[in-house]
Amino acid sequence: MSSSPNICGICNTEDYHPIYVGYEMMFGTREEFEYFQCTSCGCLQIRHIPNDLGRFYPPNYYSLSISRDKKRSKLFDYLIKQRFRNALFNQGYKLNKIISKFIEMPYLCVDQVLLVTTILKQAEIKDFDAKFLDIGCGSWSTWLESLRIMGFHNLYGADPFIKSDLNEHGIIIYKKEISDIEGKFDLITMHHSLEHIPNQRNALISASNLLAPDGVILVRIPIVSSYVWEQYGTNWVEMDAPRHLYLHSRESIELLGKQVGLELYKYIPDSLDLEFYGSEQYSRNIPLTAPNSYWLNFDNQIFTPEEIDNFKNMAKRVNKENKAGRACFFFKKKNKTN
Ligand SMILES: [Zn+2]
Repeated sequence: MSSSPNICGICNTEDYHPIYVGYEMMFGTREEFEYFQCTSCGCLQIRHIPNDLGRFYPPNYYSLSISRDKKRSKLFDYLIKQRFRNALFNQGYKLNKIISKFIEMPYLCVDQVLLVTTILKQAEIKDFDAKFLDIGCGSWSTWLESLRIMGFHNLYGADPFIKSDLNEHGIIIYKKEISDIEGKFDLITMHHSLEHIPNQRNALISASNLLAPDGVILVRIPIVSSYVWEQYGTNWVEMDAPRHLYLHSRESIELLGKQVGLELYKYIPDSLDLEFYGSEQYSRNIPLTAPNSYWLNFDNQIFTPEEIDNFKNMAKRVNKENKAGRACFFFKKKNKTN
């Protein structure tokens, strides 16, 4: 228990919320940060947001993501688009059947294709003219790139921390805060970015103001109401102190949506084996970017093949049992057609 009460940044409950100490383990500085978990809504949150947050995003932070895709021929792009036209909108079945014999979905791994198509269906995206905004995507959005490969063309991103505006293959990424973005979008995504944002309510209000009629906000975040948190506590890889300021519970993210007039209409768990091998690494005091990290090098010797199989199986199991440590939350404006 804390020596002094804290006020929850989500539900405003003031209490002696239990305190936890998280360690910086992505880069392995092992700096300590106090968090507390709200006794009412369950949200785990950093006690004091560091004044110098930028220090925890070194230049190599964004480059940790997947590398850029190579340019392809127009014919290839066309054939891929036809394949997704069938997968997403049930159109062109015969053509797809022919193309599928000689064109596979080569750019996205199978799981990712499944996740992207599931998300687009949940968001009721109706055609290739839909307009997308990816918030907090850094200088490169694998999400927008996936959509471009599939055949979409209204693709925008925003991140205040990039050097300048970018336009690559027609994907435009603005160096802007969400509140400074203009336009209306059919699907606004926050893929693991909301947990980094100090003002949670304002972030969702700004996103909500940018929704087209019937538009959808997808929030993908780590979830504290999970097996990994119960099992690993502060060694949970996605606690990611101090970059993750808020680790929502399922209750607290729904509550946050309600506070700004958004209705949670769908939840999809999407745990990966990272959740398990990363947390296991932290409990063995191995940072995510250590030279022997399994995250950087799948050939290393940290884990036995049985352990690796087990991590994959555990990810599937927690998804099935609704105890996933990360999930997709779909929001729509409440009782409004705009
Ligand atoms: Zn709370």
